[in-house]
Amino acid sequence: MKTNAAVLSIGNEILDGRILDTNSQFLFEQLNPIGFHPSLNVTCTDEISEIQRALDYLLESAHLVIVTGGLGPTEDDVTRDAIAEYVGESLELNEQILKKLQERFAARGIAFPETNRKQALLPKNSFIVPNEHGTAPGFYVPLMRGGEQRLIVSLPGVPGELKAMFFGPVKKALLDLFGSRLQEPEFYAFRIFGIPESQLSQVIQKLDLSERSYISYRASFPHIEIK
Ligand code: ATP
Ligand code: MG
Repeated sequence: MKTNAAVLSIGNEILDGRILDTNSQFLFEQLNPIGFHPSLNVTCTDEISEIQRALDYLLESAHLVIVTGGLGPTEDDVTRDAIAEYVGESLELNEQILKKLQERFAARGIAFPETNRKQALLPKNSFIVPNEHGTAPGFYVPLMRGGEQRLIVSLPGVPGELKAMFFGPVKKALLDLFGSRLQEPEFYAFRIFGIPESQLSQVIQKLDLSERSYISYRASFPHIEIK
């Protein structure tokens, strides 16, 4: 049985072309080798209703949804509100996070901006992912859907912060939660020459491949690469 992983990237600045969504690429690059089946990738605006609509769609098939972006202190950062409401939990002030945030600002000699207080809010029954490189901590919330264990992980959009958090607590939590059902993939790559793609696909279709396997084609003239 496949364990499907999806990534939800949040941000108007991705959709209007200002920045490139490299977080998804990074996450899929990491998730695949540890045994997750990369299934879906959605980008949506910084709107609560769109984030929730995307979560609904992704969780129909994905066991894991990693959400990136929208955890900052400004009013367009609504990810935590969207996820909390989606899983039916209220947001709770985490005193430990608040204290850490206040200390972080004090160490820089800056008065604590009240807008940053919201970064200490986490959905009840979620687990904190500390952020050693920035202000916004992440969190993850386990939930059941269709009788199966699912997980929503929310990480900041800043790539350096996201990467450090993934390699630290997130990867560990994923292995703890899904480890027994994850199967590290085996890859076979072939470079085919001399027959067209359509004909090659007929040959492949005749092979008796397991349901777990999937095939990707990449035409790279004059070869066709299949993996
Ligand atoms: P912040 O505290 O900085 O507001 P945040 O979690 O709210 O963090 P965003 O506001 O969504 O994150 O993004 C912050 C910055 O991180 C963006 O301006 C952009 O430079 C970068 N970023 C966000 N999402 C992505 C992404 N999917 N891929 C690459 N870079 C991203
Ligand atoms: Mg932000």
